[in-house]
Amino acid sequence: MGEVTFLGTGDPLNGERMQTCLALRLALGDVALLDTGSGTSTLAALSRSRLSLESIRHLFITHRHFDHAGGLAPLLVALTALPEASLTIPGVEDWLGGRLRWNKLSPGEAITVGDAEMTPFEVVHGIECVGFRVSQGGHTLVYAADTRPSPNVVRYAKGADLLIHEAYGTGEDAEQAHNFGHSTAADAGKAALDAGAKRLVLTHLRASRFADPTALEVEATSVFGGPVEVADDLGVFDF
Ligand SMILES: [Zn+2]
Ligand SMILES: [Zn+2]
Repeated sequence: MGEVTFLGTGDPLNGERMQTCLALRLALGDVALLDTGSGTSTLAALSRSRLSLESIRHLFITHRHFDHAGGLAPLLVALTALPEASLTIPGVEDWLGGRLRWNKLSPGEAITVGDAEMTPFEVVHGIECVGFRVSQGGHTLVYAADTRPSPNVVRYAKGADLLIHEAYGTGEDAEQAHNFGHSTAADAGKAALDAGAKRLVLTHLRASRFADPTALEVEATSVFGGPVEVADDLGVFDF
C-alpha cells in the first residue's frame, strides 16, 4: 500500500493553505515530492509533518507555475546544507554538484524511482503541464496536476485507487475555471467516474471565500457517486 502526504493544498493566492506539494513515501524511508509549493511553504510543511528534509530523494514538477515550482530554490538551498542529501529532479539543472542528478521525462514513458513507477502524461493547462500516474505495490495513485477537463486524465486514471484532482470551484465557476486552464468539482467527479477510480481527493483550492470546500465535496460526490474528500495541508492518504 502507498502513502501520500499533502504538504500543500492551496492555489497560488490562497493565504489559508500552503501551495501545491505532494510527498510520496517510497521504500527504505525515501520520499519523492510531486511539485514544490511556493517560497518556503514546503519547508514549513515538512517541519510540521512526519517526513524529514533528508528523506527527499526525488522531485517531480508538473509545470512552471510558481505555486508548483516556486519552492524549488529554497528546497535546493536547504538540501545543499545537508551533507548526506542527494536528489534526482527530472529536467532541472545541476545545483548540488554530483549530489544532484537529473533525468529527462517524456510523457507516456514510465520511469522507476525506488519501488514506484511514475508515468507522466500531458494535461491541458495552457502551458506545458503533466500529471503523474504512480504505481506502487500493485496500487495506483493519479495526480492530475493543474488541468481543465482532459481525456488524458480519464485515460491514465483508469481503475486508479486514488485520483487526486484539482477543483477551482463549483459549476457556477465553470467558464472562468476552464478559461484559466482549471476544472470544477463536477469536472473532477466526472473524471473519477469515467476512469472508474475508487476514490477522489480534491486539492489546489482557492481561498474559502471564493470556493467553499464543503460545496466542492458535495458537487463532486453528486457526479462521481463514490467517496470524495477535500485534502487539507498535512493530510495523509493511503492508496
Ligand atoms: Zn498552473
Ligand atoms: Zn497551480
